Amino acid sequence: MTGRRVHLVRRDLIFAAVREAGRISRADLVRRTGMARMTVNGLVAELLTAGVLAEEAAAHSGTRAGRPARSLTLGPAAGGVVGALIGADGVRVAEADLAGNVLRERHHDIDTSDPSTALDAIAEVITGTGRIWSTVAGFSAPISGGVIQSSSVLPGWAGTSPAAELGRRLGHRVIVRNDADLSLLGEVGYGVAAGHQDVCYLRVATGIGCGLLLGGTVHHGATGVAGEIGHVQVDETGALCQCGNRGCLETIASPRQILAALSAGYGSPVTASQAVELARTDATAERILADAGRMIGRVVAALANGINPSLVVLDGPLITPDGPILAGVTESLHRYAQPEVVESTAVRVSALGGRAALLGAVGAALRVTPAARGERAFLPMPAASEAGPAVPSPGRRERLVRRDMILDALRGQGPTARSDLVKITRLPRAAVVELLAELRHEGLVELCAPVETRAGRPSPHFRLTVGSGRLIGIALALPGIRAVVADGAGRIEETMTVPFPMSNDSHPMLRAAGDLARELLDRHGPEARIAVSVPAPVHPRTGRFGVRSVLPMFSGFAPAEEIAAAVGRPVRVENNAQLAALAEMRRGAARGAQDVLYLKADQHTGAGIVVGGRMHRGAIGYAGEVGHLNVREIGPFCICGSRGCLSAFLSPAYFGALIEPRPAAHSPGAPGSPVPPGSPVSKASTEGEDRLLTLAAQGHRPAQRALLDAGRLIGRTVAPLCDVLNPAVVVVGGRFVEAGAFVVEGIREALLRHSAPSAAAGLTVVRAELGFDAEALGAVELLL
Ligand SMILES: [Zn+2]
Ligand SMILES: [Zn+2]
Repeated sequence: MTGRRVHLVRRDLIFAAVREAGRISRADLVRRTGMARMTVNGLVAELLTAGVLAEEAAAHSGTRAGRPARSLTLGPAAGGVVGALIGADGVRVAEADLAGNVLRERHHDIDTSDPSTALDAIAEVITGTGRIWSTVAGFSAPISGGVIQSSSVLPGWAGTSPAAELGRRLGHRVIVRNDADLSLLGEVGYGVAAGHQDVCYLRVATGIGCGLLLGGTVHHGATGVAGEIGHVQVDETGALCQCGNRGCLETIASPRQILAALSAGYGSPVTASQAVELARTDATAERILADAGRMIGRVVAALANGINPSLVVLDGPLITPDGPILAGVTESLHRYAQPEVVESTAVRVSALGGRAALLGAVGAALRVTPAARGERAFLPMPAASEAGPAVPSPGRRERLVRRDMILDALRGQGPTARSDLVKITRLPRAAVVELLAELRHEGLVELCAPVETRAGRPSPHFRLTVGSGRLIGIALALPGIRAVVADGAGRIEETMTVPFPMSNDSHPMLRAAGDLARELLDRHGPEARIAVSVPAPVHPRTGRFGVRSVLPMFSGFAPAEEIAAAVGRPVRVENNAQLAALAEMRRGAARGAQDVLYLKADQHTGAGIVVGGRMHRGAIGYAGEVGHLNVREIGPFCICGSRGCLSAFLSPAYFGALIEPRPAAHSPGAPGSPVPPGSPVSKASTEGEDRLLTLAAQGHRPAQRALLDAGRLIGRTVAPLCDVLNPAVVVVGGRFVEAGAFVVEGIREALLRHSAPSAAAGLTVVRAELGFDAEALGAVELLL
């Protein structure tokens, strides 16, 4: 690092420390930044002269005689940030100081239909006192790579990149974001979502938009169009939508439709606030709003089952805490989501009075000011009162964020050139060099040979330190217990299967897995580490199966504890579909993708979700439990206690009835006899499934058609997840792919047909590559 750069970085750190504390003495500044007193004094003097800092007499601090202590605050030249919202009805602008206090907030009646004249007008109304560090502009449209995508609210902006245009006009950094994302940030920073890690924010306004916080990070999806909840198809034969599909949620439950229905009924135009009032006293108005709420709630239930957030925030002009829309959403959620998911999902109405997006824009703008470079993790807005002793100093916090960025990059990429780490993390080269040296010193990373040699002087390559111990991945599955032994770098050394029938009591199987693990430990040494894949959701914090889990034999206990008791050492336990997703992303069909939806196509269908390269487990580990999404109200009974679940339609009992003529001679319940649809499915049998797959592989047309239909059904049922998650790749695994491409074809066809065109456009549907080993390999990946 050059001397000049060091100087600037240090100045930023001083500035950041003052900003975070609000008011701080020089002595505290020395302590918090860890710099020498002389250095701090020099930098402070410089910043005081520039007016960036100011000095004030400290409050009477006591009895000590001598020169009174003076404290430092931000000065008049410290400047601030601007948040702006561009919608169909004009532009709202908020100015805030660097502590996050909103100083001024205004609405400007700007015609936003033409981007270029609108940008001129917007640039004129964005002003501030002192320096503006950054402006974040929110648009009511999906945004991908800074380019506005087509939307019903701002159709004229499609294809434009307003950040650079506006930045040129304003002379400072401008970032454009989707307004639903910004609302989500507003709710996390200032509203009801504070403290939550997994949040769906739904704004029901001109359109129906959704912002997603997954594992504490705002999710944008593979092509930036995540959150297209307004275009989840709810009626296959419904009205045509702006997006090019039919029967989207937006065409049925948006305020425009609700108000149109009310206006038609009352013979005169009804406004949003009138509608809210009417619904208090008028049964018809209440019913219209409640029906819209129920319809939205069905989609929310699918998201709750699929993504498993801890909080759903509803916002919009027609939504009140005691109104019928919230009641309708809650009713549908209870009806269509898994009981354990319902219990763990709070539904709240935004309390920010429509200001969530604007506050979020201010918050996002604050994050790109010098004191807040850890852009990936959303940190609560700094406020003077929150800066307690437990908060690491800004310099230290920034360092920790940067270390994580490097470790994450190595974890995701494997051995990586230092020059590539600079590109991936977008950190200054000098910082990467210094942090790598530190991580090497601590034994967390090591030098390694380049994977491929390039011309010129090679940049040194680094990887996470390869432990000497073996990694043991064990999967509990239907045909038995599968184990994979790998070396510390994840290279496979040995695989094996121990046949074990799954029964209504899972404990013997867990004990057998424990015995196998102990045997492998005896063979491979005590340094080996163990992870186990189980076919049910595991709570990410408690490690327990739910009390009323989807599979009764995997309910109400902590599997890791049982296996650890047999092995005599700790083991990690994770859900099978989530591990398969991880394995396919790291070493299978979805290599290189960061956003992956893995679908396990068989009688116990489930999904695994990878977002931004990380496994997404959900608030209670239920993310990806798509097998119990409702397909039909009056469908076959399901082992989960509900009926019409996706899994129930994929059960061998159901298929058996489809592909075999019913033999009259068989007594009911005899082996091989078909079970009529509507009966509870067998909990452990693979017999029907085996037969179906054999027939299909032999060319039996009805069996092939059954698998194609199974794919169509799965695709159609999980289409809302694609709309909302916007994955790059959908990987289809599970036993149904053994018979050929039928199920993959069916899923591809249904996803293209039923998901929002914007989500479908960026989607690839592929067959899994790791087959039966995916889950055990995922367990190994978990240990890497
Ligand atoms: Zn649509
Ligand atoms: Zn079910």
